[in-house]
Amino acid sequence: MLEAIKNLLFPPKCVWCGEIIDKGDECGRCRAELPVRKGKLTTKEFYSAVAAPFRYEGRVRESILRMKFRRKQSYCSVYARYISDTIKEELSGQFDLVSFVPVSDKRARERGFDQSELIASETARVLDVPFARTLRKVRDNPRQSTLRDEAARRANVSNCYKCVSDVRGARILLIDDIITTGATMSECARELRMAGAEDVIAASAAIAKKH
Ligand SMILES: [Zn+2]
Repeated sequence: MLEAIKNLLFPPKCVWCGEIIDKGDECGRCRAELPVRKGKLTTKEFYSAVAAPFRYEGRVRESILRMKFRRKQSYCSVYARYISDTIKEELSGQFDLVSFVPVSDKRARERGFDQSELIASETARVLDVPFARTLRKVRDNPRQSTLRDEAARRANVSNCYKCVSDVRGARILLIDDIITTGATMSECARELRMAGAEDVIAASAAIAKKH
């Protein structure tokens, strides 16, 4: 009964296109038409593999932007479900800790949540692998999306992240919401390896063609 009232007041909407649906979190049309990623991905020097269920375009891109800028926190568990399925297929058994690329404390306060932390903790729960914060963002740099070329993006994230836990010997699955050029992910992986991590593999909900 409560559920029925809640559905009347707040009808469920598709995470991807925003249309009202009967139940669940996505509509049948989106499920059939989402831009699923295909093909092998290149990796950057500091992480050894990367997995992502979607390309960063169309409804996936719009959904991630709504999540971040209109604070649709609940979307994170849907993304985590897709990431978990992709990881089971592509990277199973290659890591023993799940962690995330954090936003700065200031941005987390403004937004009310850290999306990558939510996505990563839910992914860890689904995969039944330990979860921990390993990084803190110590410098609040301009958004990567404001910078066009790879060199500028690399310079922008340089020394922004500090390892804050003992990662010696760990094989870490590091999760971000999106991966565009991979500059942020590579910088985080570099920091974790400098702190003694044995391996870092990357995952995100969506990945840009540039990568
Ligand atoms: Zn939809």
